[in-house]
Parts: sequence; structure tokens; C-alpha cells
Amino acid sequence: LPQSARELLLSRIRDVPDYPKPGVMFKDITPLLADPKAFAALTDALVELAGRYGATKIVGLEARGFILAAPVAVQAGIGFVPVRKAGKLPGATLAQSYELEYGTAEIEVHAEDLSAGDRVMVIDDVLATGGTAGASLELIRRAGAEVAGVAVLMELSFLPGRKRLDGALGGAPLDAL
Ligand code: AMP
Repeated sequence: LPQSARELLLSRIRDVPDYPKPGVMFKDITPLLADPKAFAALTDALVELAGRYGATKIVGLEARGFILAAPVAVQAGIGFVPVRKAGKLPGATLAQSYELEYGTAEIEVHAEDLSAGDRVMVIDDVLATGGTAGASLELIRRAGAEVAGVAVLMELSFLPGRKRLDGALGGAPLDAL
């Protein structure tokens, strides 16, 4: 990312302490989304990564991943596939559960949206523990598709997200802008 774009994006991310619960520093991207220059700079950087990955499908992770991934798919001229929290997709799905700090969560994808031969790029705003992204990589593999790479706006590098994803990436790149 060019220095000027990096500074622009950083200036449009708001740190909100103790949200949604005490001890969490929430990374709020709404100022970035409201600034068309910043949103375009982010979209351009992700489109470039999609090209480098040789992606043929873009997966966005609910919910902020949808917002970031959709314009990338349009600009890159490839399909967008939503990975949603369990119970939101009406068709036949593949489901994957994963561990949270307390308990488990489950995500789903429409089985027909991913197939053998697809090279899939996963996009989200924040990589924290890596649980969500890791489960999405399992879904992609179980659908018979290939993981092309994972791109996030921010990586919380004090958490072991990158390490947790290592096996599931199977050598594919993880880029944090
Ligand atoms: P994880 O599965 O722990 O990597 O969490 C990633 C998901 O939770 C992403 O979809 C993020 O949008 C959200 N998330 C986790 N931590 C934060 C944070 N500090 N600020 C904003 N979003 C976060």
C-alpha cells in the first residue's frame, strides 16, 4: 500500500475503547466507508491483491466483510459469495462451527456458490483470533474450491490469529493492509 493511502486509511479508522464489552478496542471503519477517497483507495488495494492471488471468486465475511468485498468483486469482474452466520441463507448450505473465547459459533455458505476449480479470496475488516476466517477456509476447501488468499484491512497482531490460520491457509497468502 502506498504511504499516502496507508495514512489516509489509518486516519479513517476510529478506535472505540470498551466496545462491545470492557477490555475490547473496537476498530470502527464507518469513517472510512463514509469517505469516498478512502473507500476507493481500500477497494483499489484489494482489487490489486485479487489479481495477484488469481482469484475467481470473492468471499465476504458477515457483516463488514460484505461491505468491503462487494465493490472489489464488481471492480475485479468476478463473483461475490457471502459467508453468513448460521440460519441466514435460504438454500442448501455447508456449515462450519468454530471456537470462541466462550462457546462456539457457526457460519454457512450456499454450497452451489463455490465449486472445484474456483480460486477464492476471503475479505474481512479485522483479523482478531482468526476463528471466523479459519472456518471460512474450511468451508471453501469442503466445497472443493481452492483458497487463493485472505485479505483484511487490519490484523490485531497481539492476538494469535495469523498463527491459528497457518494450517488452514495451506501456503496461501494472508495480507493485512
Ligand atoms: P475473529 O474470528 O476473532 O478473528 O474475529 C473476527 C471478526 O470479528 C471479524 O469479522 C471482525 O469484524 C470482528 N472483530 C473482532 N475483533 C474486532 C475489533 N477489535 N474491532 C472490530 N471488529 C472486530
